[in-house]
Amino acid sequence: MKVNGFLKTETAKPKYNGKHLPLNNNQNGHDLIGDNHVATSLETPMREDAFLLSDEQKILLIEDKFREIMNVLGLDLRDDSLNGTPHRVAKMFVKEIFSGLNPQNMPKISVFDNKFKYGEMLVEKNINMNSTCEHHFLPIVGKAHVAYVSSGQVVGLSKINRVVDYFARRPQVQERLTVQIANELKRILKTEDVAVIIDAKHLCVSSRGIQDESSSTITAEYGGVFKNPHRKDEFLKYLSLDI
Ligand SMILES: [Zn+2]
Repeated sequence: MKVNGFLKTETAKPKYNGKHLPLNNNQNGHDLIGDNHVATSLETPMREDAFLLSDEQKILLIEDKFREIMNVLGLDLRDDSLNGTPHRVAKMFVKEIFSGLNPQNMPKISVFDNKFKYGEMLVEKNINMNSTCEHHFLPIVGKAHVAYVSSGQVVGLSKINRVVDYFARRPQVQERLTVQIANELKRILKTEDVAVIIDAKHLCVSSRGIQDESSSTITAEYGGVFKNPHRKDEFLKYLSLDI
């Protein structure tokens, strides 16, 4: 399988064997965006040719490049413990922690009529959420809390968890993740009346940089009736969050 040289970015990237030196243009700008955790767009920035490669081709390419990173760090890849790491990391990127980049992995969600005529808000709280910071490729670990008021349709409860999980499995910025989850639920449920709160710890804050292990980051998106302070308070009361 010949996949080398496919990526358009290849020529812009530094090469290991001295042909291209590292490009340092806009280095300060990149550092600034990373350390301030700024998202540049609501959509996950993807190239148009993102899915021309199969998962298997991507795993081969990433494995090759990750082996090179380990080599550059001076690690001895002949060691039994390290030998399989490039393949493990590549497979984990494509099939697990970044599987939410591929729209084919979007959960199939069917809606049902709200037969019980339940008209109050439904809250699904403490949804486990594991994501990855797109600035440092380190874990973001936390909980998502979701509420909606049915406009006539409902979804199975576990489907809300699946939507959270799908968007979390991308390189992310927490603000974007919050809005992406809310927008997808609004689309599925055909209502603006959706609220999402995420409370998460960023390993790039706790294990490097400022090294603050106690702080967490809370982001929220309130749509439709949840913009009403009374509804918002009700939601927060259910979560017993003092924010
Ligand atoms: Zn980060």
